Amino acid sequence: MALIVQKYGGTSVADTDRIKNVAARVAEYHRRGDRLVVVVSAMAGVTDKLIKMAKDITPLPSEREMDMLLATGEQTTIALTAMALEALGVPAMSLTGAQAGIVTDGVHTKAKIKNITPRQVHALLDQGKVVIVAGFQGQTPEGQITTLGRGGSDLTAIALAAALKANLCQIYTDVDGVFTADPRVVPTARKIDEISYDELLEMAGSGAKVMQLRSVEFAKKFGVVFEVRSSLNNNPGTIVKEETKDMESVVIRGVSLDKNQAKITLVGVPDRPGVAARIFRTLAEAAINVDMIVQNVSHGAASPTTDLSFTIDKPDLPKAEKVIDGIRKEVGIKKVQANQAIAKLSIVGVGMRSHSGVAARMFDTLAREGINIDMISTSEIKISVIIELAKADDAARAVHAAFLGS
Ligand code: ASP
Ligand code: MG
Repeated sequence: MALIVQKYGGTSVADTDRIKNVAARVAEYHRRGDRLVVVVSAMAGVTDKLIKMAKDITPLPSEREMDMLLATGEQTTIALTAMALEALGVPAMSLTGAQAGIVTDGVHTKAKIKNITPRQVHALLDQGKVVIVAGFQGQTPEGQITTLGRGGSDLTAIALAAALKANLCQIYTDVDGVFTADPRVVPTARKIDEISYDELLEMAGSGAKVMQLRSVEFAKKFGVVFEVRSSLNNNPGTIVKEETKDMESVVIRGVSLDKNQAKITLVGVPDRPGVAARIFRTLAEAAINVDMIVQNVSHGAASPTTDLSFTIDKPDLPKAEKVIDGIRKEVGIKKVQANQAIAKLSIVGVGMRSHSGVAARMFDTLAREGINIDMISTSEIKISVIIELAKADDAARAVHAAFLGS
């Protein structure tokens, strides 16, 4: 008899028919004799709608009240899911995050889980019940309701699987698993059978949004093996786990594309100690995330200057231009250029460690397509390039064909 944690995202519980489908799937596992803990998100669009209502009332709602409000989204779904199971004759009971024993710190709207004491969960499982738990929410030791950041239901499921020492953790979504590329851009993309935590983290950081990043980091830390699969069919999904030796036999696991970046170039920056620190400290203080940074060789012998380029999230561009403008005179930057028409193309795979010539092959492929590389950055298992936005989709298809076939 296996203990299984299943998580159903917003699209899987988007309406009452989908909730009935979820209940039917859970009932099947229950009939097989498995013990089930089911984590659900708010119905698709509900969290966004609640946020919009709050903003209609006041531009800066208190974060404590935001959590009180947002937690209702998941509370609706747990009750409806429990009802749907009871209607099928399956004993079930819903629990809020607090009732499930999820204790967090007091950082409202992005709380961290401190510990889980799933006493009620165990008791209900012992009574033969399916336990439905509200994702995305917890409670401080003082009893305040908190939420775990957008997409936080993934974290609820992974953390519960760890705390309960579940045999299996399944993350149900509206796609068949993790793909070698975004199928909307690369039609030949395939579902990946197995991927390591690190590869998934690198792909997520490169624009492939399958799961909340924090929940993958948590799974890695606690060794929670999980499966990402579709709630719309019975196809096996993608298993996410610690890297194994044979994972390295594949050169590249996937290709990802991030069209949400912008580039800033600072022309004529004085090349002396402390300048880069000053610039990037200013950006950090404005909570602007900097991704890639490239500094050119300096020119001019007496008072050398250099050009400095970096990328940030596109929505942060106006803010970044403003704070850079604020220190421009003081630092002595000659000119500031911004470019939104860029994309970041990345290839990810643990196989890079043992195969040589991977970067050369990627650059060769782009050259043959006549695509210019603007910036390059690498990690042990990732190579990223900044290219022109208009050519990004073609580039992704070409690179996917070169490494993963077409
Ligand atoms: N309902 C929350 C959100 O939309 C949590 C989740 O879906 O995982 O972010
Ligand atoms: Mg979600």
